[in-house]
Amino acid sequence: MSSYNDIVKRNKKYVLQTYTRYPVALKKGKGVYVWDVNNKKYLDFIAGISVNNLGYNNKQINSIINKSLENLIHTSNLFYTEPQINLAEKLSKSTNNGKVFFCNSGAEANETALKLARAHGNRFKNPRKKIITLKNSFHGRSLATVFATGQKKYQKGFKPKVGNYTYIRPDNIKMLKKILNNDVSAVLIELIQGEGGINILDKEFVQYLYKECRKKKILFMVDEVQTGLGRTGKLFAFKYFNIIPDVITLAKSIAFGLPMGVAIIKKEFAGILKPGMHASTFGGGDLVSSAACKVIDIISKKSFLDDVQKISKYFHTKLLSLKKRYKFIIEVKGIGLMLGLKFKFPCKDVVKKLLKQGLITNCIQDNVLRFLPPLIIKKNHVDEAIQKLDKVFKTL
Ligand SMILES: *Cc1c(COP(=O)(O)O)cnc(C)c1O
Repeated sequence: MSSYNDIVKRNKKYVLQTYTRYPVALKKGKGVYVWDVNNKKYLDFIAGISVNNLGYNNKQINSIINKSLENLIHTSNLFYTEPQINLAEKLSKSTNNGKVFFCNSGAEANETALKLARAHGNRFKNPRKKIITLKNSFHGRSLATVFATGQKKYQKGFKPKVGNYTYIRPDNIKMLKKILNNDVSAVLIELIQGEGGINILDKEFVQYLYKECRKKKILFMVDEVQTGLGRTGKLFAFKYFNIIPDVITLAKSIAFGLPMGVAIIKKEFAGILKPGMHASTFGGGDLVSSAACKVIDIISKKSFLDDVQKISKYFHTKLLSLKKRYKFIIEVKGIGLMLGLKFKFPCKDVVKKLLKQGLITNCIQDNVLRFLPPLIIKKNHVDEAIQKLDKVFKTL
């Protein structure tokens, strides 16, 4: 096996340098732990950015994947395949009873929603051209989704702008009243902004937006790429808001680390995208769909989600006690196992110090230390994380 230095050197030479990586090369994982090439062990409280939500090397899912390897892996959407249909049925029944489009990432799932929004807008006599998104949102890095994203830093260098977006400050109902006219085809929002700093939207704002969208035939589209599939302690974040979105997009944790994205479209709008209007070569293949079916079966169990809620409360309480002890912590943010600590100062170096202690976290919006642990963590893992946080915080 190559050394860390060798890996870094060859990365620089052969891999496009679009990432700022941690000074660590990982080689394997088990449960909620990962190991680097020097056999140093880390407690992983980022879980592949909310992808490895059932931890690493899960026996149940490994055996499903192994079985699928002997069948098809992939065959394209020229054919019907059963795992894809099984998964679509599970997703439909647990969300908005809609129809499912399969693709391979969060950005692609949102691309599907945005294409649907355009096709929907073009059905009107005076075509509706505008799509509303929120400031501080994150919807992906493709050209359409990067301009749907309400953060200038991701758009820098990529003009001319693709699409016609209006960005609204979250929770600003006054602005909504002004902007929700009949030139708007859709809104796309995260109910809890992830990359934007773990910001939970106001229930009142969301319900007002939802009601107006219904009234004005504006598509109400919710990006649950990060919040979906148990992350918040419910199966989906929209269940906290008493709404049923017209479109729900998912990706990240849906197939246990295998790439998959989905857009689930309510029946009344599902006919807008007709045969030939959208496609994906890999979308909903046998292997990924089989894995995703198992993931959904595991996380939809009431006992599983109850455990997430319980451990979330425990973790949240422990974070509050850290806040009490350290004045540089302004706020404990989040819900479920999507939690963070807002600092008075940038937290990039805190992340590095935590890495040295064997705890993986990340820093978003400059000063929010984010935790997205696997949903299977137990009390002892929280205790271990808190101990490491405490040790590093003492030095700040
Ligand atoms: C990660 C993320 C995306 C983008 O997903 P990719 O798979 O990286 O394309 C989109 N929306 C939200 C809310 C995300 O967290």
